[in-house]
Amino acid sequence: MNTRVVRTATSLAAASALICVLSACAPVDSAASDVEKGEGSFVVQYDPASTPENQTEQTLWQQAGLLEAFADAMNKTVALPKDVAVVAKDCQEANAFYDPATSSISLCYELSASERSSLEADAVDGDAAGEEPVDQQLLESARAVLYHEAGHALLAELGLAFTGREEDVADQYSVYALTDSEEDADSLITVAKIYYLNAQSVTDVDELPFSDTHGLDAQRSANFLCYVYGAYPERYEYLVQDGTLDSERAGGCQEEFAQLSAGWESLLRPHLRSTNGS
Ligand SMILES: [Zn+2]
Repeated sequence: MNTRVVRTATSLAAASALICVLSACAPVDSAASDVEKGEGSFVVQYDPASTPENQTEQTLWQQAGLLEAFADAMNKTVALPKDVAVVAKDCQEANAFYDPATSSISLCYELSASERSSLEADAVDGDAAGEEPVDQQLLESARAVLYHEAGHALLAELGLAFTGREEDVADQYSVYALTDSEEDADSLITVAKIYYLNAQSVTDVDELPFSDTHGLDAQRSANFLCYVYGAYPERYEYLVQDGTLDSERAGGCQEEFAQLSAGWESLLRPHLRSTNGS
């Protein structure tokens, strides 16, 4: 049965753009119609930043409508059992979290501030010729982080079964959500770059967090490159040509992308708003 899900662009420039499912190409099967759908939504909140550095990131995010565009896209896509808060805030650490106990996503201003330092240092090093402005790269990264945390939230709130490491599954959700258009996929190149820069900051192999639930930064960077190449092989052929993406890995990337897309489509199909009541 061909139940291809069609999704549209979710660019930051078009806050009203959304991930959607055309009912004509997502027929409801019996399993889907058995699922009780809730009325929950992603609900956004910007807590006031307490330092000048964090205030810079708060202003950037609010002026771009970062959280609002994310929530708008998600709320038009998935029916949640209950509301999930999406909170931009001070955390005292450069991170982002989903907390199932409070059904909330926290996106820390410190994460963006830390990435700003890395990107600006990289630009000073002269590697940034022709690249997007730092603010734009930061917005692209923060949006991908939001979708990563949304992956965690969907797994927990919808009680989705999965295998493999949850952190990998969450990264794959951000790819699934952000490869509808070439413009969105381009933003994941920025994500790969930031993981690469993070990886470069660790020079002693003994310092690598092998036991962490996340893949190593260098692995996550390579994964994102592989997935976007798999989504649009012609557009990103240059990544293979210039050696940014390992050519052996590249050979399987279209299959890797197809697998993650099919996986998330299957997981979400019973919970899509557009299938509700049809
Ligand atoms: Zn995570």
